[in-house]
Amino acid sequence: MRWGDFRRSDNIEDRGDAGPSGGGAGGGPGIRLGGGAIVVVVIASLLFGVNPLEMLDLVSGGGAPAPQQATPAPGGYGPAPAPPVRDQAREMVAHVLGDTEDTWQAIFKARGQRYVPPKLVLFRGSTRSACGRADAAVGPFYCPADREVYLDTAFFDELTRRFGAPGDFAQAYVVAHEVGHHVQNLMGIMGKFDAQSQRMDARSRNALSVRLELQADCFAGVWGHAAQRRNLLDAGDVEEGLRAAAAVGDDRIQRQARGAVTPDSFTHGSSAQRVRWFKAGFDTGDVRSCDTFAARER
Ligand SMILES: [Zn+2]
Repeated sequence: MRWGDFRRSDNIEDRGDAGPSGGGAGGGPGIRLGGGAIVVVVIASLLFGVNPLEMLDLVSGGGAPAPQQATPAPGGYGPAPAPPVRDQAREMVAHVLGDTEDTWQAIFKARGQRYVPPKLVLFRGSTRSACGRADAAVGPFYCPADREVYLDTAFFDELTRRFGAPGDFAQAYVVAHEVGHHVQNLMGIMGKFDAQSQRMDARSRNALSVRLELQADCFAGVWGHAAQRRNLLDAGDVEEGLRAAAAVGDDRIQRQARGAVTPDSFTHGSSAQRVRWFKAGFDTGDVRSCDTFAARER
């Protein structure tokens, strides 16, 4: 992926290394929700019957820490301390974010709408959001309440090591998926989802959540399509993206974690579903091909 040729976004905030228990504010311009703001959010959620505090993550069960054997400690030393946010990852994310802005701006314009880009917060360890405290176990997520994407760059390492999906396009897919949730928010899809899911039992709610997540995968594919049309992808990028989509499928994660798979508990979709919907967006570049809510077969 020739991400250096993407326009770099300024809508990025690097909160750096907050440490395992840090607040992530670190003197940066991080959002600070006082008690008053939280009360307002809670009241709003009571008034409107929605739950604006919901985090929309990439992976069911979050990017929980990798199993012990994944971090060998040669020579008796403990696990290496987390390195600071790497410039390379930050730059790549900033450029990919800029390209999603250009892509979605054009799509929204064609629909007679205006795209308001999200801010992307890079953190390391833990940080705060209007959706609550985030730590590395949450993985990347989008917070509808503050319209920001949160990304712990350590997840990129996890994508490589734990999920077996290395490569810059795999990482771009993560960013594009979370931006896809922002698009859903702007399009009013998320509001409908919230209203509907409130009245559902857990099983139906999970099924609806799968459709929401698969649509974010499809929207990630729509961005990938736009990048490919401008010849900014390399050979093998598509495979990287598909491998990443498959790697974060609920069935694969459950099998890895517990050895068994419980489809009723899926919230993001199986590997095959995630691949299929990413591909639907990638092949067409058309948001209309991403109506996972109308599709009879997910
Ligand atoms: Zn998601």
